[in-house]
Formats: sequence, structure tokens, C-alpha cells
Amino acid sequence: MKSQPERLHLWRGKRRALQKVAERLSDLGVVKTHADIAFELDRPGTLRTCEGTMESLTGYLSAELQQVSLPLLLSPEVRALGEESLAKAGMGHVVSFDATILTKQGMRRDVVFTLVPKFHATGDIVGIVGTVREAMSLSRFDHRLTESELRYQSLFVDNVDAVLTFDREGNFVNVNPATETLMGYQANELIGRSFLPFIVESERQKTFEHYSQVLNGHTVQYETAMIDRQGGQIDLHVTVIPILFNGAVAGVHCIGKNITEQKRLQHRLEHLAYHDALTGLENRPALIKQLEGLLGDAALMSRNVAVLFLDVDRFKIVNDSLGHSAGDVLLQQLAARLAPLRRSARRIYRLGGDEFLFLLTESQRDEAVQFARQVVERFTDPFSVRDYEIQLTASIGIAVSPDHGITAEALIQHADYAMYQAKKQGRNHIHVFDLQESQRSRHALELETEMRHALVNGDFTLYFQPKIHVKTKRIVGAEALIRWRHPERGLVPPGEFIPLAEETGQIVGIGTWVLREACAQCRAWQEEGFAPIPVSVNVSYAQFEATSFTATVEETLAQVGLAPEYLEIEITESTTMHIERTMETFHRLKRLGVKMAIDDFGTGYSSLSYLNKLPIDYLKIDQSFVREIIGDYSTHNDIVTAIIALARNLNLGVIAEGVETNEQFQFLEALNCDLAQGYLFSRPVPAAEFKHLLQRV
Ligand code: C2E
Ligand code: MG
Ligand code: MG
Repeated sequence: MKSQPERLHLWRGKRRALQKVAERLSDLGVVKTHADIAFELDRPGTLRTCEGTMESLTGYLSAELQQVSLPLLLSPEVRALGEESLAKAGMGHVVSFDATILTKQGMRRDVVFTLVPKFHATGDIVGIVGTVREAMSLSRFDHRLTESELRYQSLFVDNVDAVLTFDREGNFVNVNPATETLMGYQANELIGRSFLPFIVESERQKTFEHYSQVLNGHTVQYETAMIDRQGGQIDLHVTVIPILFNGAVAGVHCIGKNITEQKRLQHRLEHLAYHDALTGLENRPALIKQLEGLLGDAALMSRNVAVLFLDVDRFKIVNDSLGHSAGDVLLQQLAARLAPLRRSARRIYRLGGDEFLFLLTESQRDEAVQFARQVVERFTDPFSVRDYEIQLTASIGIAVSPDHGITAEALIQHADYAMYQAKKQGRNHIHVFDLQESQRSRHALELETEMRHALVNGDFTLYFQPKIHVKTKRIVGAEALIRWRHPERGLVPPGEFIPLAEETGQIVGIGTWVLREACAQCRAWQEEGFAPIPVSVNVSYAQFEATSFTATVEETLAQVGLAPEYLEIEITESTTMHIERTMETFHRLKRLGVKMAIDDFGTGYSSLSYLNKLPIDYLKIDQSFVREIIGDYSTHNDIVTAIIALARNLNLGVIAEGVETNEQFQFLEALNCDLAQGYLFSRPVPAAEFKHLLQRV
């Protein structure tokens, strides 16, 4: 039997104070209800009252316990201790002692008794109040101990994560084996040292802030990084928990999870997501992310951010002729040339295809232009792919915030637009975005949409202007001229929409409609019994160049039932400049039996040698020359004279357009000009009106 340590608490306070405690305990009925207060004794130690606790501890009924001396309930070896303690309490001391109760059933129970003397108002001790609590049995205690030890073992010692304890100042107090492995230090090398120097410098401030939070009693979780013994960086996810002792933070527990591998993977994925696989440069998502961040800051600090949009000129030709893999090699070479232009405030991205973008984080317009020139210089030397030397050029568009946009989307779009303008200027150009220019283009965009609807809704119509035989003054032809009956703007002349239609390619659809409409009208007049005359249709280069053009003409004629000799096609002089491409079409049309005229002759630069080879029928003298015919003196007279002479020499018919005065007409008549057209005879008029000009056969 282990010796029970006797613990005596001697209360040196005044009797009066003790008395109060005892009185209050019994007055409040605490004896009955409090789990600890179990009995009252008279001064010699005989039980006077007792309650359930005593019954359950001793196995005796309350009634059986009455008048029993307390020491008798104890195991023999502690009875003397019981007597002694009772005596002390009887003398006015508070006594606490460990003892063993022998139950009615003969079992032993370890308990702790506390005896408090009870005073009478006179100051005499009239009894003793007692509490009893069962002491935890040693075996149970042992069991609990091993359990908590096991728990400690698995939580601390065997934990795969680093588990550490720090004092309030952040010095190591305890580290588990996983910490030793992770950091490469033995526990004894760490204990007592501050942990902060082990944290990578960039994370220290954050770590310090988190630590302060923990010291205020909060548990925090965050990611940080630490340097191990070899100087390597270890990324950690940490949970830091305050250790509360008596309501105050005495230190902290920290659980650190090694996330280095996870971070590496994350970085690799991020790299893939934000870089272009072909060139290794950053990509569009990276650009958007950085530009958006930058513009947020720039707005705050009113800084300029410049965006340079670069597109390689004619890259498609390289791709198409040498193949995509050669194109890829070329792009890689280009990226390698451009990459050295990178600085901290200057980044480069590949947006896809042959498009690259430079982002200048602090740059005015002039600096951006200056830099664009540096970029252009990188194209001076030819590139070599396979055995080819390839000379490339680039078109660069520039947009600068805030003038040209304050969002990433607007800036990129405007730089792109400026690049497109650079291309239009003949490529190999640098162009800075111009707001007015882009507004004009927005208008064009609206017009484009409207035009598309106009074609579907049947808002286009044809006017006809007669061609007059100069000698007989009879109508020998009609030129079809398109008009747009715009719902708001009224009758829109072709000059206001044909150039845009040519640029956007819509001219093909519109032109096909004109062709059919003109042919159908011509046929209709014939069927109505008028003397047959050919109809002239204006055809744009974009339309003429399309491979399907001859087929469209042939098909239209067949469907409408018009003989080919009643169709005349007017091509502007500029079309003849692309003669290599269109020669075939000219010949096919000729074989078909369709007539052809060169419109606005004299304004272009047609080479006479080509003119000789073209299977055309008429030259149409441009109205600017005709308009200037005055008397015999104008230089334009000479031009008109020369053109008529030329036509004669080439065996071509000649038409003068824009004839407004008799004087002009007489001049032309004198020169033996074949046909004339102009307001002098009639303005272009709707088909129904034109009919009145025609004579019945
Ligand atoms: P164009 O083929 O040279 O047509 C002659 C233009 O001169 C017409 O203008 C006509 O109205 C105008 N004109 C005729 N006589 C006189 C005159 O005595 N004095 C003056 N000042 N002008 C006269 P419009 O109809 O506005 O057409 C302009 C141009 O638009 C045409 O020039 C032609 O190049 C183009 N165009 C018209 N219709 C079509 C079409 O269906 N398809 C294509 N691709 N272009 C067309
Ligand atoms: Mg014409
Ligand atoms: Mg003309």
C-alpha cells in the first residue's frame, strides 16, 4: 500500500471568517446539494447528517451512517490519519487529507476528505462540515495517462507534418522529428532560437503579423516559406494555435505542412496557362491579367501605359508557301529577336498567329513610337528558314492610356485597330491610334450592317441613264446606276456606299443583284416591244476578280433570257492595273459575247501596251475632262482629243460621259466621238421613267 501523502492546509485566518464559511455552507443547504459536501460531524467526529454522496461512496444507507464515527469508515491503515485530521479540525483548522474508505461490501475506495470547523456565534467550535471526493484510481489514471501519451505520440512524435511549439517571443520550445527532417536541424540546434530568421525574407513581415494575431488568442492559417539547412526553400501551409494558460497566451503550437511539391506543380500549371508553348513568351491571358492590374494602378497614379500591337506583314504567304512548320520556326526566331527588348517596365506577349504585343508600363506616346522603331529594326536582317532567306516587315499599332482607353480590352482593341491602319498605309508602318479615325470606322461599321439589311430588304434600286449616238442622237444604250433607298436618309448615291462595299467584300453580293436586275430590265423592255438596246453595268474590281464572275454572268444571262451582246460591262481603269489576274476573265467574257468598256478613262494609269492586249470594246472618257471642254482653249480639250485618237488607233469605240452642254456636245461631234452620255440628254432615271425615253420598234 502506497503511503498517502497527507496534505494539511492550515487556515490562519480568523475564526470569524471560518465560521462564516461553515455557516454559509450549511445555511445554503449546500450540504444537501453540492456534490462535494457530504456530511456534518459533531466535534468528536460522529456523523450527524450526510447525503447521497456518502451513501454511494460507502455502500451504507444514510440511516446506517448516523452516529457512526468517521474514522470507522476508513480502511484500518488510514484510521489514525483520520483521527488526527478530525482533531485538527476540532481545533479550528481546515484539513484536507487522502484516505481510503472501506465500503459495506468490503471494497476499497480512494478519496480526498476536506474538513472545515463550524463555529457557534459565541466563537466556540460546534461541529465540522466535510466534503469528500473520490480520487482517481491509480490504474484508471495510468490508463488515461497512456492514452494521452499515445495521443501525444501520434500527434507529435509520429506526425508526418512538422509540429512545433514556440514561446511568446517566437523561440523554439519543442519540435517533432518531422520538423528535424524538414529543416535539416536537430531539435537541440533549434530550441531556444528565434524562428523568424528561418522564414524567407519576403514572408517575414506577413509571418510577424500573423504571429501577433495568434498572441491575441486567434488561430491562424496561412502559407509561407522557410529556408532549410541546405539553403533550399520549403513552402509551408501552417496552422498556428495559441496555447492558453489561465486565460493568457503562454506560447503557440504550430503545425506546418510541406507544400513545396504542390507549389511547384501549381507554378508549372500557371506557367503553362500564361505562356505560349511555341515561343515561350507570355500569352494573351497573361497580358489581360497584367494589363488589368496595371491599369488599376495607373488610374490611381495617373501613369501612362502604352500597348504596341505588332503583326508580321505577309506572314500568311510564308506559311502557305513553306508550310506551317517553317512558319513556326520563323515565329520562334522572331520571338528570340524580340525577347531581348524586354525590360522590367516592358513586357512582350505572343497573342497567337503572327501577332505580338509589347506592354510599356510607363510610357508616353513619343517614347512608345521611339520604342516601336527599335522593334522595327529587329526586322532589318533577313530570317533564314530551311534554305530560304526571308525578309520580313511588321506593322505596329500603338495605343496609350488613358487617352486611347482605360480598360485592357479597349487599349488592346485600339492598338489592334491602329495596327490595321498601319497595314492599310502599305504595311511596314507604325501607326498611333486616332480616335476620330476609329469613329469614322464605327460609322462604316454601322453602314456595313445597314447595307447587308438593304440587300435582303430590297432597298436597292437601279436608275438608268441613256447613251446617245452622237451622229443620230438616238438612244443606243442604258447605263444602270445603283441607288439605295435608305429608310432615313432617302436616296443615297453609290459614291457613299460602294467604296465601303468594295472594302468589305459586300460588293460581290450587291453587284450580283445589280447584274441580274439590269439584265432582267433590259429583257423586259425588249419583251415590251422596244427596240433592243444594250444595258451597261458597272463592275468593281473586287467583283470582277472573283473567279466565279464569268460563271455568274453566264448564269444570269441564261436565267433572264438575255442575249450576251445586250450586256456591256464597265470596268474602271484601275482594274486593268491588275491585268495578270484579270486577263483571263476579260477573255472569257469576250468569248461569251459580252461587251466591255473601260470607265473613267484617263484618270488611272493604264499602260498602253496592256490596253492593246485587252479584248475591250469602248473607252469611256472620264467626265472630269468632258466637263472642262470650253471653246478651243482648254488643255482638257487636248486630252479628250488624244483619247479619241487613241481609241481610233486601238480600234475601240469611244463614249464621252458627263456631257452637260451643247458646246461640249458639239466639240465631241466635231471629233467624231461615237457615243455621249450626260445631263444634257437625261439624268439617270428610274426604269419606269426610262421607258418613256425609249421608242417603240
Ligand atoms: P460612273 O460609272 O462613271 O457613272 C457616271 C456617274 O456620273 C453617275 O453617278 C452619273 O449619275 C453621273 N453623271 C451622269 N451624267 C452626268 C452629268 O452630265 N453631269 C454630272 N455631274 N454627273 C453625271 P452615280 O450614279 O452617282 O454613280 C457614281 C459611280 O458609282 C459610278 O460612276 C460608278 O463608278 C459607281 N456605280 C454606280 N452604280 C454602280 C453599281 O451598280 N456597281 C458598281 N460597282 N459601281 C456603281
Ligand atoms: Mg459607269
Ligand atoms: Mg465614269
